[in-house]
Amino acid sequence: MIPVKFPESGMSKTEFTESVKRAYEKSLLGRPERIFSGESPHMLPDGRRQLAIEAFMKFIDANVCFFTGESARQMERDLISMMGSLLGNEDAVGNITTGGTESNVLALLAARNRAGTRGSVVLPKTAHESLFKACDYLGLEPISVDPKADWTADVEKMEKAVRKDTIAIVGTPGTWVYSSIDPIEEIGEIAEERDLYFHLDAAIGGLLLPFLERSGQKLPKYDFRVKSVCSISADPHKNGMTPLSAGAIIFRDTDLHNFSKFKIRGKTGTVMKSYQTETLIGSRPGSPIVGAWAMFNLIGADGYVAIAKKVMEITYAFRDGFKEIPGLKLFAEPKVNVVSAYSDQYGLHNVTEELRQKGWVFFTLDVPSGLVLWLDPVNDGQAEPFLADLKQAMRLKIPV
Ligand code: PLP
Repeated sequence: MIPVKFPESGMSKTEFTESVKRAYEKSLLGRPERIFSGESPHMLPDGRRQLAIEAFMKFIDANVCFFTGESARQMERDLISMMGSLLGNEDAVGNITTGGTESNVLALLAARNRAGTRGSVVLPKTAHESLFKACDYLGLEPISVDPKADWTADVEKMEKAVRKDTIAIVGTPGTWVYSSIDPIEEIGEIAEERDLYFHLDAAIGGLLLPFLERSGQKLPKYDFRVKSVCSISADPHKNGMTPLSAGAIIFRDTDLHNFSKFKIRGKTGTVMKSYQTETLIGSRPGSPIVGAWAMFNLIGADGYVAIAKKVMEITYAFRDGFKEIPGLKLFAEPKVNVVSAYSDQYGLHNVTEELRQKGWVFFTLDVPSGLVLWLDPVNDGQAEPFLADLKQAMRLKIPV
């Protein structure tokens, strides 16, 4: 790393503008169509996203933790209420967070405080890494259980894995990489019988499944309609398409929400004061809240239904193409806007490298060798050229 000194004096405006331009050009932000990483949800063609960004900018200095954040705090309550009602609970409370990771940490913190002790958390191996990170942070032991052949949670195995010290159980309606939906109602029965805290990681599914359901798709219950669900993480900055960084942790009721808050009143140092925060961080930017509030209000449920249908149509186009390529397998029929293909016969590293060199941007898997695409509306029309390049690159596969 080349050391950089703190600037002695300010840059000229022209020099500064040039530097920003160069950095932007080096980033992938200017060419989102070929990026399949769920990072380019913002390219709505009709200017609504731009309006949301203007609102975001107006609140750039608002601090939700202090005095300038009151309007944003109200919008935060509105957002949680809106998402709660989408997810089957009009009385929901909670917070806008920095994303799925923080939401998962807060959920397991609430679980630990509800139990009044550390202990273990039962979750399928297909759960997102951030849940393992949350366990690590909080001194909880993850008991991860093999999924079924269709990459959904194996409820029988989960039930057997519950121990005396188990405090929480987790399900995922919309798994990252596998694109499956865990059987939430069945896991909910275990939670109810064993009085476990039940958290759902709907980072991907939370702002997609309700709209697919509204479009007429039949889905098993995946939200607060399952009575034992205590909390749901759902990310506005993923399928809500709102500016970074906006996650949401949504609790069934105030009692559960209170378990995730930090409060101290008294003499913590040399003076008497009180301190309270609702999320992991102290100073908290109002802009992502305002940006999310703007997008929800500008797009509305009917707009999100259209977006949900479109991203699944794009996902299915890639799925259909993968199915035609000899040597590639799908984990599952994609239930959310993620589609992954892998090979148990070949190493695909040279294949994915050639695709990268052609300008395609996506995640890869090492074992088994594979590729993961997370699709946004801006990827419309890219299936055909991508699949043509993939077919050609498959000549580089290596038998294992
Ligand atoms: N949960 C799931 C299912 C995810 O797919 C992700 C990210 O991809 C996360 C949690 C973590 O979200 P974030 O990166 O916003 O912290």
